[in-house]
Amino acid sequence: MIGLRRGLALAGALRRGTAADGLPYKLTLIVTRRCPTRCSFCSIWKTPSPDEMTLQEWDKVLFSASRAVWVNLSGGEVFQRPDIGDLTEILARRLRHLYLVDFPTTGYFPERTLDACERLVRGGVRKVLVTVSLDGPPDVHDRLRGRDGAFERAVEAMRALRAAKLPRVSAYFGMTLFPDNHGVADETVAAARAAVPGLTERDFHFNIGMESGHYYKNLGIDATPPLAALKVLERYRRRGLDPVSRLERAYQNRVPRYLDTGRSPVPCAALRASVFVDPQGVVYPCSIFDRPLGSLREHGYDLRQVLGGAGARQARKDVVAERCPGCWTPCEAYQSLFAHWTRSSPERPPVPSGSPDRPAEVPAATETRTSTARAGTRTATRAPAEEARREQSR
Ligand code: SF4
Ligand code: SF4
Repeated sequence: MIGLRRGLALAGALRRGTAADGLPYKLTLIVTRRCPTRCSFCSIWKTPSPDEMTLQEWDKVLFSASRAVWVNLSGGEVFQRPDIGDLTEILARRLRHLYLVDFPTTGYFPERTLDACERLVRGGVRKVLVTVSLDGPPDVHDRLRGRDGAFERAVEAMRALRAAKLPRVSAYFGMTLFPDNHGVADETVAAARAAVPGLTERDFHFNIGMESGHYYKNLGIDATPPLAALKVLERYRRRGLDPVSRLERAYQNRVPRYLDTGRSPVPCAALRASVFVDPQGVVYPCSIFDRPLGSLREHGYDLRQVLGGAGARQARKDVVAERCPGCWTPCEAYQSLFAHWTRSSPERPPVPSGSPDRPAEVPAATETRTSTARAGTRTATRAPAEEARREQSR
């Protein structure tokens, strides 16, 4: 019965484009900025993160958003928090309709990762997706991560996750393509498959790196891969008809358009379907748009209060009018694709069924996956015509 209730809640949320209470159905919760790795394409690890929200504070926030069905837990390294197991238990208890939890990890804390997965499943969560980040074969991964032995830690974590065979828990490797590593995808897959018996190409997911303002703080670091990276996406494209494969293809099919324009290829569902909360309780539209909407600490830990404020209302208009940095990261794109397909986004322009933007067959989205941790505020140069069109519409 619990599974049915949660499945129906997820289906309803995807159809409406919001949770049953009108709040976003997906919460991206950044629970820490602490991180054991020193990635060259991300500055989270350099960013002081004092006074992160406590378990009690997160509990109150979750109480205010109790109809959410999907939580992306992220960091930093989520499992750097010693109390992460207790936090996952609070998640499962407070969010009674919670269907899906996904998180990225460096693989540095396999025991905490397994413990959190077990607690989520025990709490009734229907699907837990773990993405172990892998950015290259050992030498490349360790260099990009700024830590000797980082590759080995990642594959050890994957071995532990696979050996545990936890029900309703899936683990993938996630490779984000940057200018520095898009040419070594095959070597990465080969090295990981040599280290983890039984892995197949389906156990790898690929997405593209971006630049980030308020979150990864890597503006100015060129994280966006060249067009040649599209060959990697094509080479590892999932061919199946299952929901995950179809969702991933829909995302990947639109990457060229994003690289060309620097804009989200479909109307963005941020602040309607999803919202982002940082470790100190400051709310943003997404992991990308550097527009603080208010502090949960100053609003009684009530997400509804922050999202009902003037700042959030203006930000919603700005998202619709594309007055935001624009991005195409799976962390945000998947909700937008769902909204696009189900027409739950009221601002969505009509797209004929069967067109590239609206496949005739819409996947029954009962499962999805997470990307690696990073996503960002792309400061990409927009195509001039695109820029002019947007200026006119302002
Ligand atoms: S990209 Fe992820 S793992 Fe690397 S420093 Fe940033 S938060 Fe940590
Ligand atoms: S930056 Fe990306 S996710 Fe954020 S509002 Fe703009 S298009 Fe949406």
